[in-house]
Amino acid sequence: GEAVIELNNLKKYFTINKGIKRKKNYVKAVDDVTLTINKGEIVGLVGESGSGKTTLARVILNLTKPTDSHVVFNGINLSKATRKEMKKFRTDVAVVFQDPASNLNPRSTVMSSIMRPLILHGMPKKLAKEKAVKSLELVKMDSRYLNSYPHQLSGGQLQRIAIARALVLEPKVMILDEPTSALDISVQAQILNLLLDLQESFNLTYLVITHDLNVIRYISDRIAVMYLGKLVEFGPTDEVIKDPKHPYTEGLMAASPILDPHDRDKEKYLMEGAPVSLINLPTGCNFHPRCPYATKDCANEAPQNIIFPNGHQVACFRYESILKKI
Ligand code: SF4
Repeated sequence: GEAVIELNNLKKYFTINKGIKRKKNYVKAVDDVTLTINKGEIVGLVGESGSGKTTLARVILNLTKPTDSHVVFNGINLSKATRKEMKKFRTDVAVVFQDPASNLNPRSTVMSSIMRPLILHGMPKKLAKEKAVKSLELVKMDSRYLNSYPHQLSGGQLQRIAIARALVLEPKVMILDEPTSALDISVQAQILNLLLDLQESFNLTYLVITHDLNVIRYISDRIAVMYLGKLVEFGPTDEVIKDPKHPYTEGLMAASPILDPHDRDKEKYLMEGAPVSLINLPTGCNFHPRCPYATKDCANEAPQNIIFPNGHQVACFRYESILKKI
């Protein structure tokens, strides 16, 4: 496939001052992430809170600058992009956040919320209105909602409107941050199906960030797994689910059997072991304190990223043992 987003050894560190000596410390929120997202594919990015997945999304969205390396979008290095290229980037990449309430101004009608990105891009009001009406059709909502205010709408309807607004600039890429987590279970599947339909109609590229493995399984072509700032595994959805190469992925999959969507229990996703934190990272492989396969070496050295011919990536010394389950 044709690469839309390319990351090579991308890092995002935050500095914190810790202790009486105000010693400088780093929080390695994104550490050495190499990842390519191709045109028209859906990549699911999964990880517990504190895994760095949200920071990675913010870096890709250019909301925060990477500490090392850069984001390549459609062949353009964003750290060196011209003003015109950045304007194109902001049109081409849209984002939908988890909480529809944070996406929409409570005092704006649906119509003005959807129109706003167009007006900000200098489009005349009349044309912007026409586009807003079309956009609402795309998310399969009746035009009578154009004059509604957010408080008059359900969570599912609000998320449809947030998607309509994201679509209005005709983006090529959508970053979806927990797009269904704030919704009732019964509405989640409708929103996921809508997203799948839109993806197909416009050959959109999605990066879906979530802790919900059922969402990832349902929607993604490829799955990227993050653990404490590291991309530990990245590969085709079937392979990652059936034959995970990384012990963390294996644990994640084993801890969450494919559930009836009406009987979800988020607790089931949580693995055993100490809670994770980006502050006080373990030495060597970040996962070694919780890893059933860990050897002495794992505590001393961090594993390199291994990339297989089909693009499947894993960062673990012992992936061969994990495949053979020994
Ligand atoms: Fe486990 Fe070692 Fe692999 Fe890390 S490198 S995941 S500790 S086996």
